[in-house]
Amino acid sequence: MAHDAPSGPQGPTKLVIRNIGLMLSGDLNKPILEADTIVAENGRISAIGRFKDIDTEGATTTVDAHGAAITPGLIDSHVHPVVGDWTPRQSQINWIDSSLHGGVTTMISAGEVHFPGRPRDVVGLKALAITAQRSFSAFRASGVKMHAGAPVIEHEMEENDFKELAAAGVKLLGEIGLGGVKDGPTAKKMVAWARKYGIQSTIHTGGPSIAGSGLIDKDVVLEAGTDVVGHINGGHTALPDGQIRCICEGCKAGLELVHNGNERSALYTLRIAREMGDLHRVILGTDGPAGSGVQPLGILRMISLLSSVGDLPAEQAFCLATGNTAKMRDLDVGLLEVGRSADFVIMDVAQHSGASTLLESVRLGDIPGIGMTIIDGIVRSERSRNTPPATRVPTIVKA
Ligand SMILES: [Zn+2]
Repeated sequence: MAHDAPSGPQGPTKLVIRNIGLMLSGDLNKPILEADTIVAENGRISAIGRFKDIDTEGATTTVDAHGAAITPGLIDSHVHPVVGDWTPRQSQINWIDSSLHGGVTTMISAGEVHFPGRPRDVVGLKALAITAQRSFSAFRASGVKMHAGAPVIEHEMEENDFKELAAAGVKLLGEIGLGGVKDGPTAKKMVAWARKYGIQSTIHTGGPSIAGSGLIDKDVVLEAGTDVVGHINGGHTALPDGQIRCICEGCKAGLELVHNGNERSALYTLRIAREMGDLHRVILGTDGPAGSGVQPLGILRMISLLSSVGDLPAEQAFCLATGNTAKMRDLDVGLLEVGRSADFVIMDVAQHSGASTLLESVRLGDIPGIGMTIIDGIVRSERSRNTPPATRVPTIVKA
């Protein structure tokens, strides 16, 4: 089944995943859990622990992980969707499904800016945002949770527009800077309006992404005061290191590192954040589908890059793409915790890696092999068509 509605199957479900060899919680405070079994009832985690201590009776689906690792489903904090599982930016279909095969179960729109003929007048941009919010919440490509409906602000907007957008279900702003507003004072005023009505904000950071977009430097970023500093490592062109340091030190906002940015600047930001004791602020995205294309393994590649070249323990690197993002963006995913959404990735060291364990392989810069993805307690994909083959692959023993 390639596509389905958010509701999933009818009737109660109970998923049991057993023989888990390594449980990565997504929580920087305790990235590894001592447990081998997870139970999820009706799409939510209901128990985590040792198989012998847990009630696994009455399972509707049982998965044997065969010793492979489990992580929360990965979150891509920065994507630009358009309609369903199609993007005109690189003329691709099924890019969301491809990302699911890279372990991504939740995506966050930074603006539906690739919509052909994107409206820039106030009525039009509000209509597009509300349409995207409605469309992506009613239709999930391959089960992936796409948080979309992210208007790009323009000078003509007034406070009442933000109130209306919020009342209509819009919870995000698109990247500030991709529209007409590129100055600090206007951005600051509109971010405050957005925040007042519960809308989260992000900003394009760095040089223009393509001809026609603009530079957003440290002064604009700091004055705007968004909740997230979108691609602080540039998308594509990063600010000079001194400006990146000023942003890290000058605010408490999320520091987003994207695959579509400057890799050296991503490593520089990671180093500053760690020195400041602010690793919890670092979150990961791809910025896909962007100029560098659709990046189905973009989040995994960022995890490997930051862990190997950035010298970050692999179990912590996974937190940057799961728990950190979930906490910052107030999502009920991203952590292995009772009550959270049962969104998981089962993965293992890729075949013929120089390492013998998953964590060691990521530290060496390898991409893990994904064996299964699960969203809301339902198996969405089995052996990934995009990652290298995993050594140990989970099987469904009862469905
Ligand atoms: Zn951008």
